[in-house]
Amino acid sequence: MEEIKVGDTVRSFDFARFNKETEGKEACFIQGEVLEIGRPEGHSCDCYKIKVAKKVFGGEIIEECDDIYYAPVNGTKIFGGGVCDGVVKVSVELRFFKAVLVEIPANEVLEKVYPIGHEHMKLEDRIGKCPECDSNSWMMLADESVAVRDGGKQYCECLGCGETTHL
Ligand SMILES: [Zn+2]
Repeated sequence: MEEIKVGDTVRSFDFARFNKETEGKEACFIQGEVLEIGRPEGHSCDCYKIKVAKKVFGGEIIEECDDIYYAPVNGTKIFGGGVCDGVVKVSVELRFFKAVLVEIPANEVLEKVYPIGHEHMKLEDRIGKCPECDSNSWMMLADESVAVRDGGKQYCECLGCGETTHL
């Protein structure tokens, strides 16, 4: 069995001992980073202290769950026989996404960004050439970018110098 260390990302299947499915109706696990290994207060054995990134039950992601989860360290003897082995290390796969630029005519931009209410807006009131470098080209950041997602606005980056603003 692979040794689990602090900092590893793990899946703990220990609250669903009957399987180690990761997809489908039988999938039940906690996934997250191991913060500490030791005996927490109120527990009778050493545990992995896991910072919960994801909880899956019955194949569904459970949004409401504790931030921290304790799972018994692999090899801990189970009363009545056997040992705990419910925690497995997962290798974190990197993922990459490349945005592709598609020009949107300036007279259609507000309608795209503000499907409701754009009739009452004027583009020139909201944005002009870049104040830093005088470029006339803005890259509208993807809806998936943190700026747009968390900012709730259409953030734009100047293609000339990287200055950002929003519509
Ligand atoms: Zn600029």
